[in-house]
Amino acid sequence: MHNNTAISELIEAGKWISQRGWVPATGGNFSARTTTGFVVTASGFDKGQLGTHTFIQLDHNGDRSAGSAKPSAETELHLCMYKLIPSANFVLHTHSVAATVLSRVVKGHSLDLQGYEMQKSIAGNTSHLDTLSIPIFDNDQDIDRLSLLVSDHHLHTPIEYAVLIRGHGLYVVGRDIREVRRHLEGLEFLFSCELERLKLEGISAEAKV
Ligand SMILES: [Zn+2]
Repeated sequence: MHNNTAISELIEAGKWISQRGWVPATGGNFSARTTTGFVVTASGFDKGQLGTHTFIQLDHNGDRSAGSAKPSAETELHLCMYKLIPSANFVLHTHSVAATVLSRVVKGHSLDLQGYEMQKSIAGNTSHLDTLSIPIFDNDQDIDRLSLLVSDHHLHTPIEYAVLIRGHGLYVVGRDIREVRRHLEGLEFLFSCELERLKLEGISAEAKV
């Protein structure tokens, strides 16, 4: 995939994601793996109004090859996800209310979803009876340290689709733009359902220690 194609697809995805309220106040960032390296959104722009000038182009090593805007602080975690998941060609990072709150309510190291038909929106998941587990990592302003934690976790429990950062948001991957958008929409639906369920059934009984 050429950089320009990836940028166009991320601009479109940004409008859609912004309309759903998942990247408020210029939060979040998006990226793609391309034939020449990576493209990633720059810091500080409204993700619903992205343009070609709001992207930074990186080479295969993650070093800047084009674009003068400030790189997002979270670029390192995007590159980490590509390294860990060779099939991933897109990473979307969002700051939705459901992901932010749920990752705080669940005290353990993973959000385990079970019993939802929508689990099948995530590649490789075929039944509501299976458990869809999304790892949760404590938030850290030191992105290198956070990336190292994610990499270490991957050694014993491979990360397949997504990670949650506590009180912060979601990183989700896909092989192409359609898959990553489906994964994002599916997970956001599941997070909203789980949050509603915990509110109705009682948080204390479900919160893991
Ligand atoms: Zn973020």
